[in-house]
Amino acid sequence: MSSFSFTVEAECSKSWARAGTIQTAHGKIQTPIFMPVGTQATVKSVTPEELREAGAAIILANTYHLMLRPGSQLIADFGGLHHFMHWDGPILTDSGGFQVFSLGHLRKLSEEGVAFKSHLDGSALLLTPESVMQIEHELSADIILPLDICAAYPCTYDTAKEAMERTHRWAERAWIAKEGYQSEQTLFGIVQGAFEPELREQSARFIGSLPFPGVSIGGLSVGEPKLEMWDLLKYVTPELPKGKPRHLLGVGSPEDLVIGVGLGMDMFDCVLPTRVARHGGLFTRYGRINIKSARYRTEHRAIEEDCDCYTCRNFSAAYVHHLARTEEQLYYRLGTIHNLRFMLRLAVQLRAAIIAGTYPAFRDNFLALYTPTSEQVRENQRQKWKAARLQ
Ligand SMILES: [Zn+2]
Repeated sequence: MSSFSFTVEAECSKSWARAGTIQTAHGKIQTPIFMPVGTQATVKSVTPEELREAGAAIILANTYHLMLRPGSQLIADFGGLHHFMHWDGPILTDSGGFQVFSLGHLRKLSEEGVAFKSHLDGSALLLTPESVMQIEHELSADIILPLDICAAYPCTYDTAKEAMERTHRWAERAWIAKEGYQSEQTLFGIVQGAFEPELREQSARFIGSLPFPGVSIGGLSVGEPKLEMWDLLKYVTPELPKGKPRHLLGVGSPEDLVIGVGLGMDMFDCVLPTRVARHGGLFTRYGRINIKSARYRTEHRAIEEDCDCYTCRNFSAAYVHHLARTEEQLYYRLGTIHNLRFMLRLAVQLRAAIIAGTYPAFRDNFLALYTPTSEQVRENQRQKWKAARLQ
């Protein structure tokens, strides 16, 4: 029997925001929650103890990367991801589908699954809804996702429909395969439908009606303007069952969290906070700063004076600036800790506001102070990271 459960404890009367608790075999998760991403079974540059201290309740690991290296069978031999990486809290693994479409070469999509070549050594591989369930069973995360098809942005209505319908058929195959393992793991369904409101509604209704105890919303934050993403969620959320947690896949900047919560989302994950930290981008209530900027060279105060993270409690912005400019190893750790704490504290603040009935005011005050990174800057960064990945 699965120990998974989800209870909603408070709902906002003026938006779709809610506060809840997810119970898993590895502990409780209070929602809304931000999930740090540990692509290679490690959140880059920090230890599990540092993750805990920053307030992480659940982390995400990438099936695609781990099945290629070190291999899911090897991780199973070490007792699964929790033992292998020394993280005893809940873990979520994605299906690998998104990475196959963004990193794999020579993809060939069929009803059976997706054939592709590894971006590491070019070896030929095939992922099917069934093989993904086996791989995720070996990885042993608490929450697992089925193989899905993330349509490119932009795409035609027919392409979006075809990808969604196949995602639905694969979801049913994954559910049947997963049942065979009789594991403690909880399989979420994935809503697709690209940028077609009607398909999104249809997908939310279909996936929501299947026995999945939770729902992930996939295929968003793939290069579209943010407004378009928020607009689509207005079609998705009303179609979803209220009693299941909702996970907005791959989305998680500070403003995403604040706005997404109001649109009914409970769980967020994104590499952004840790990735931008490593490049010098640190979050403050006024927006993202570049700690490498000369203005911090002599700054005696912390990155944010009232931030309770390890970095801000112990170091001046000038010291962090110095480490970042000299590319010292310690910088990556201190910068990552600050951004993770910022996101996790924000999730706690959102939860408290929902419970207190003050979420709309919290959202408006946050957004009035916080200047989000512009679409143009986001797009340039995306292109830079894409180019770096292809080298
Ligand atoms: Zn801090």
